[in-house]
Amino acid sequence: HAKAKGRNGYAIFKSDMEAVIMRRQTLENDLHKAVYNNEFFLLYQPQINGTDSNLLGVEALIRWNHPEQGIISPLEFIPIAEENGTIVDIGNWVLEKACQQIKFWIDEYGSSPVISVNLSAIQLIHGNLVETISNLLDSTKIPAELLELEVTETLIIYEEKRSIELLKALKKIGVRISIDDFGTGYSSLNHLKKLPLDKLKIDRTFVNDIPGDPDSETIVKTIIRMSQDLGLEVTAEGVETEEQLEFLKEERCPQFQGYYFDKPLSPMVIQDKYLEKK
Ligand code: C2E
Ligand code: MG
Ligand code: MG
Ligand code: MG
Repeated sequence: HAKAKGRNGYAIFKSDMEAVIMRRQTLENDLHKAVYNNEFFLLYQPQINGTDSNLLGVEALIRWNHPEQGIISPLEFIPIAEENGTIVDIGNWVLEKACQQIKFWIDEYGSSPVISVNLSAIQLIHGNLVETISNLLDSTKIPAELLELEVTETLIIYEEKRSIELLKALKKIGVRISIDDFGTGYSSLNHLKKLPLDKLKIDRTFVNDIPGDPDSETIVKTIIRMSQDLGLEVTAEGVETEEQLEFLKEERCPQFQGYYFDKPLSPMVIQDKYLEKK
């Protein structure tokens, strides 16, 4: 009896594993033609000014509309794309799409919110980022300050010298630079001082645990103070509840992003909700 059960359990386990491995292989393989086949799209999640509820900017978040598998989350395919190198082309596609969106909004609405784009470490190391971005700014003629690049602490530590140089070169072009998921990496103040930053984004795992969790409360407060002392902007990510928002406002956090305000939205919904025709 026990044996049969064991065999059965093993069989289920094995087929689950096989399914996981097969899906990964399929995605790994299909990523190579996904840019060419135009299977990606961007959603935009608003960043809101706490004092007047105005739109400050939007974060571009990629989705993959796979012909057989349906919509796939970046949490699943970005790590695979980083591993097989397709992230460089995908990242360039995101940058181009974001610049075109800014241009479209300027043309149709007279102005555009800042669009922030997530960068992966591989893009910084292997992509020709400075050239790619300055070419995009030239060809679309959009103001550089409307493009923001989000990098993680982990990324910077991973290739410290190289990334500091690159970020400085990017800052020279005039684009904005923010640190994403701040508080989860191991960057020291000393580290931060060397970087040409505009903004810190407090990781949503901390926001998730406030109010109530003393460690998260301390971390959130410290990041807000620190950003003020360093003259940086600060955004709280993943704000979902009134209670979180109240705690953050009490601590004078000026900017928010999260489901409490908006989920990632299509460009059309952003227009209807936040932009006015000129
Ligand atoms: P991220 O840059 O930290 O983006 C924030 C993530 O948190 C997004 O997930 C967003 O939908 C989610 N989020 C926002 N507000 C809330 C909230 O109130 N509650 C909860 N539970 N979640 C919230 P998403 O879109 O699945 O993206 C996941 C990650 O994938 C991003 O994390 C980013 O690291 C990466 N990613 C997304 N787009 C790109 C891209 O174009 N290039 C690269 N390299 N990475 C990307
Ligand atoms: Mg981000
Ligand atoms: Mg984040
Ligand atoms: Mg992230």
